[in-house]
Amino acid sequence: MAEYSIGVDLGGTNLRAAAISKDGKILDKVSVDTNGAGGREAVINDIVQSISGLRTKQSSNRLAGVGIGVPGFILLEKGIILGSNNLPYFDDFPLRDEIEKRLGTPVILENDANAAALGEKWMGTGRDVEDLVLLTLGTGVGGGIISNGRMVHGFLGMAGELGHITVVPNGNPCGCGNIGCLEKHASATAVEATARLLSLGDNLTSLDVYNMALEGNDRAKRVFESMGSALGIALAMLVNTFNFPLYLLSGGVLPAWDFFAPAMFSELEKRSYTFRNSKTRVERATLGNQAGLYGAAYLPFQRAN
Ligand SMILES: [Zn+2]
Repeated sequence: MAEYSIGVDLGGTNLRAAAISKDGKILDKVSVDTNGAGGREAVINDIVQSISGLRTKQSSNRLAGVGIGVPGFILLEKGIILGSNNLPYFDDFPLRDEIEKRLGTPVILENDANAAALGEKWMGTGRDVEDLVLLTLGTGVGGGIISNGRMVHGFLGMAGELGHITVVPNGNPCGCGNIGCLEKHASATAVEATARLLSLGDNLTSLDVYNMALEGNDRAKRVFESMGSALGIALAMLVNTFNFPLYLLSGGVLPAWDFFAPAMFSELEKRSYTFRNSKTRVERATLGNQAGLYGAAYLPFQRAN
């Protein structure tokens, strides 16, 4: 019997799940809206139904387990989301155990950006390295660290919260309690906030700002330069800390690469001796929003190794 696992990417907007074979082939997938308005019970039902549906259709194959990536701070051993802006109804709830109980299958809970980093290591740009860092630039900024081919968890499972490292000492306040967090200066939300500060418009989306930059608007370009500088500061710290060969960026803001990358690389050059004197790669991740699914599905395989 061929072995496969099921990866789930539970976001504030979408719930996606895929059955993936041990050699990394997507066998089947489903996607539904996250029924946040329905509350905890509705979302758990949708998760369980998505997984059961995939499992039934793979009847001739053997299920290795289920991995679930969730946004937020998690307690790995307990399988609990300690706090999540996107899924507040799961705070302090034993999500892993509840889903295990209903499915009768082992479940591993993981932070979504950690899962995405693992996905890039397994099937994406990180395939040829053993050590990498992934930064996901979306509504917030997530981070995942892979060292010696394995995820770095810290003692509770909260390692890699790179969106909350300080890049501007007196910068914008963040929901985590800090000020000047990377995600307050280098996310889609940060792009929108900076655009407001530069009087580009009050209700612009990051895509609007990107389109203005494409049309040659200098202030819109400056928004992305500011984002690039913040990213460069963060990356310099990471390069200096880890001396890994590869740092990957992914997420909704990635199409603006040409606008933010020059400022990012110039800051990185300035702030990291290691970067200047090594062939450190800083690149775009290739799996896009599939990375989280691949990574979540890889979790049961990795545990078995
Ligand atoms: Zn923060």
